[in-house]
Amino acid sequence: MGAAVDLALKPEDEAFASSFRVWLEGNLLRPPAFVDLADEVSWGREWQATLAAERWVGVHWPSAYGGRSATPVQVALYQSEYARSQAPQPVNRVGINLVGPTLLAHGTDDQRLRYLPSILSAEEIWCQLFSEPDAGSDLASLSTQAVAVEGGFEVTGRKVWTSYAQFATWGLCLARTDPDAPRPQQGISALIVDMSAPGVDIRPLVQMTGDAEFNEVFLNDVFVPTEQLVGIEGQGWTVAGSTLAHERGTNFPFKEQVVHETYLARLYKEALANGALDDPVVADALAQSYIDLGVLRLHNLRTLTRLGRGEEPGPESSWVKLMWTTMTQHLSETGMAVTGRDPVSSQSGPWARQWLWSRAASIAGGTSEVQRDIIAGRILRLPR
Ligand SMILES: Cc1cc2nc3c(=O)[nH]c(=O)nc-3n(C[C@H](O)[C@H](O)[C@H](O)COP(=O)(O)OP(=O)(O)OC[C@H]3O[C@@H](n4cnc5c(N)ncnc54)[C@H](O)[C@@H]3O)c2cc1C
Repeated sequence: MGAAVDLALKPEDEAFASSFRVWLEGNLLRPPAFVDLADEVSWGREWQATLAAERWVGVHWPSAYGGRSATPVQVALYQSEYARSQAPQPVNRVGINLVGPTLLAHGTDDQRLRYLPSILSAEEIWCQLFSEPDAGSDLASLSTQAVAVEGGFEVTGRKVWTSYAQFATWGLCLARTDPDAPRPQQGISALIVDMSAPGVDIRPLVQMTGDAEFNEVFLNDVFVPTEQLVGIEGQGWTVAGSTLAHERGTNFPFKEQVVHETYLARLYKEALANGALDDPVVADALAQSYIDLGVLRLHNLRTLTRLGRGEEPGPESSWVKLMWTTMTQHLSETGMAVTGRDPVSSQSGPWARQWLWSRAASIAGGTSEVQRDIIAGRILRLPR
């Protein structure tokens, strides 16, 4: 028998969630229709600055650095309240969720003072320069080189899939400082790259949604001063470990559960109104989404209980990621069935966009095959 799930919230956690809910009710800005992605990002900066002014962004950061020192349970509640309000996500997500916690863990005091405040206010947007054409799931095979020069490093290589690089002031970059290290994980360093430095060439990649959120980033002898090295030279793999732990962290499933509950409620209404619910295939698909979301909710409650006890989410987070992927892709397909549209030929409309986006779910943050590998090895203990 496993340990019982404890669903009771502490009064201070309830108070935390309710004060955020009340703040959102009074301050939520509804986005206008955007002309393009640049317009959306510029509005997103303003919205994030509004949140930051009342310390309602980066709540998991320590109070001394502009956060609220929120506990993991409070972070989960914050994410749920945020999603329930249907507020647009903060624009500087890479900065808030990945770079901030990484600098808090591995940065110098000077780096924290210099970079952290402008992450929360969205004055400086960050991107993550990790993936390369030949280094994604197997990130340790990255080949971008950082050669030591007077006062710093010169970085040369090619990154890909870099979300929001075209809007970023800074990029957290993994590069090889010791190409002769015996193991691929050794000899990598984490560097803060100025995205406007000479030698940085950003080329947006248009996705099938029609937007260009990703980019290829070419780095040609880009100078990075020594004070922009994060952590110890050659130990960037440890720094990257912190970043990736936050990427696959606990924030995401709580938010996504509420977001998808809202989608399903909307879809059900639409199916009822346009008669699609009379089709047993559609009705079954909606019922399946309802069940999938119920299961995700139970997993989230279990995670919350573990976090409340000060335990780590563990390899089960791979299971949650995989389940979420299946759920979001299935729900998006149901969305297309309800609206009777073909997402590829009609790219317009929220469901078509949602369907197109849902294809990325089985890749971003670790592919489904990689999650299955983790489940097989670390949960089921199957032989390799
Ligand atoms: C929406 C989105 C946003 C992203 N944003 C960023 C970003 O801002 N910065 C950044 O650095 N990266 C970003 N990425 C990149 C992302 O981290 C990689 O796409 C991901 O790690 C997979 O790497 P890959 O695309 O190189 O695929 P590969 O690793 O080449 O995989 C190709 C195929 O092989 C399979 N495979 C690989 N290894 C194994 C294995 N051991 N066992 C079984 N199957 C395997 C994979 O599952 C996949 O099907 C983003 C990706 C997406 C989709």
